[in-house]
Amino acid sequence: MKRIAVMTSGGDCPGMNAAVRAVVRTGLDHGLEVFGIRQGYQGLLNGDFHRLTSFEVSGILQRGGTILQTARNLEFKTPAGQSKGLRRLNEHGIEGLIIVGGDGSLRGGTALHKLGFPVMGIPASIDNDLYGTDMSIGVDTALNTILDSLDRIRDTASSHTRAFIIETMGRNCGYLAMIASIVGGAEIVSVPEREVSMEAIHDSLVDAYVRGKSHAVAVIAEGVSYKTTDLVEYLSQKGDVGFEVRLSILGHIQRGGSPSAFDRLLATRMGVKALQSLLDGQSGMMVCMSGREMDLIPIEKAISQVRPINPNYFDLARILSR
Ligand code: ADP
Repeated sequence: MKRIAVMTSGGDCPGMNAAVRAVVRTGLDHGLEVFGIRQGYQGLLNGDFHRLTSFEVSGILQRGGTILQTARNLEFKTPAGQSKGLRRLNEHGIEGLIIVGGDGSLRGGTALHKLGFPVMGIPASIDNDLYGTDMSIGVDTALNTILDSLDRIRDTASSHTRAFIIETMGRNCGYLAMIASIVGGAEIVSVPEREVSMEAIHDSLVDAYVRGKSHAVAVIAEGVSYKTTDLVEYLSQKGDVGFEVRLSILGHIQRGGSPSAFDRLLATRMGVKALQSLLDGQSGMMVCMSGREMDLIPIEKAISQVRPINPNYFDLARILSR
């Protein structure tokens, strides 16, 4: 193998740049030419390939987002789009591809692998919804960002005797909301995996008020079946919560920012592992964190199911919020 390419795809997250840097520098160390494909599958189809030198990946380790940029592309989901992508890779003499992205991006990688092209995947998604890896790149940074917001909100909540409803991003996965509620000391958490009804949220806020708490925080994952605006409306119609109720939707704030030490190390280790595995002749595999080691699992297995939340966390959240 002489020439490989790397791209970032789907939702961006902190640590993608660290992974790209690790792929490029490990590739150069092995005497390879490394190309970056801009804007994910869109750039692949448009032939947006650029040779990356060591210099081009310097100064990016600490930057959030992705210097290669990312995009969503519908054409690549079709068989015609996939053959066009394969053709572009061949036109540029690329012999292996490393994709840094979430489940959708890795699905695209399996399509290329099935067409006989060597592909390795690196899980990068703040949601931590990818099965088969203890952590995906970006999760730790997103958690720290949520925690920082939660701490700030609690300061103002307790000064004004308020209850805050905090909505976290995370698609259909409640991992971020669950962990943030435990480490941020929230009174109640509602996630798609175990939804808490509006009525039960009302009751626990009333309970916190009656017990004399100066504030209350409810963390609600975006994937639950009701809207947080409807929840706030419901609570104000009830009129007996005790606290004044306010809503804060964290949204895209969660995605950005400089990657944490954990994410930089994870991304670096995953980038190195992906490159070495490609050179070892592996394909169709995703790098995963298994305990303290970097391992591989078939991408097909990783995308076959959503990573479940550890059931012990539900008890932990309940016990510690009292
Ligand atoms: P993420 O990788 O963050 O989950 P998306 O689900 O939006 O983000 O996927 C990113 C891109 O991956 C899509 O825009 C599309 O180009 C490609 N992709 C997603 N699903 C498939 C699929 N089933 N087959 C081929 N390509 C796919």
